[in-house]
Amino acid sequence: MQQSIMSTLPLLLLLLFSSLFPAPSHAWGIHGHLIVCQIAQGRLSDAAAAAVRGLLPSYAGGNLSSLCSWADGVKLRYPWSAPLHYIDTPDHLCSYTYDRDCKDEDSFRGRCVAGAINNYTSQLLTYDATSPSTQYNLTQALLFLAHFVGDIHQPLHVGFTSDKGGNTIDVHWYTRKTVLHHVWDDNIIKTAENDYYGEGVAEFVDALMQNITGEWSQRVPGWEECSKNQTTCPDTYASESIAAACDWAYKDVTEDSLLEDAYFGSRLPVVNLRLAQGGVRLAATLNRIFS
Ligand SMILES: [Zn+2]
Repeated sequence: MQQSIMSTLPLLLLLLFSSLFPAPSHAWGIHGHLIVCQIAQGRLSDAAAAAVRGLLPSYAGGNLSSLCSWADGVKLRYPWSAPLHYIDTPDHLCSYTYDRDCKDEDSFRGRCVAGAINNYTSQLLTYDATSPSTQYNLTQALLFLAHFVGDIHQPLHVGFTSDKGGNTIDVHWYTRKTVLHHVWDDNIIKTAENDYYGEGVAEFVDALMQNITGEWSQRVPGWEECSKNQTTCPDTYASESIAAACDWAYKDVTEDSLLEDAYFGSRLPVVNLRLAQGGVRLAATLNRIFS
């Protein structure tokens, strides 16, 4: 008992710290991650839901979505984790390969979001409900995995190297000055909530879940699948993201572009799809891990 309180305490402090001093945004915003994790939560098998409940701190009530942005809040405390949120690919090549691209700025191999997803999946495969891991902090592994499966589906998290996934491209989102990366993390989602969902993230999640069981239902088994019986397929997710980054995010955007209705209307379906795929695949991955 005492041990579990002790192991929860640093996490509580980190959460408090991260809510007081949010790190700069380099990820789906809080709503993007919330949406991915809420979609996933509703698709967990009984075994996965039980494992998630067992690994999360008790105040989370077994609900992953409240902690889905935790990984963004600990970048300053865990500087080694900062390069694990994205992948830089060669400029204008519009492709991704693990061997070429999954590395950090010091060319340390495997240090990218795809490598992190593989790593935390392997750690979670050691989960044993009857005896706590002595080797890994599986609570953190779960929080990192849930966050990174979201990140890898944000097209500009697998962007070009020289513009840091659109972070150095200044644009105007309607009347507001921002950068292209932030448009995809946050602005498209927030504008959709304001325009279509009564400013509510819950209504947005409901609409996506209706599409998953309706319009997209034929495609969902394909999203869930991993080739060669793997537990998770981050290379597939990353390849899709850089393709979407080239086809939609970067397309027709230059420094100081004014992005408004035409861009919003044509890109929102891509954001909807990537949020849904992220949620479906996070659940599928957790269901395989804890099966
Ligand atoms: Zn992130």
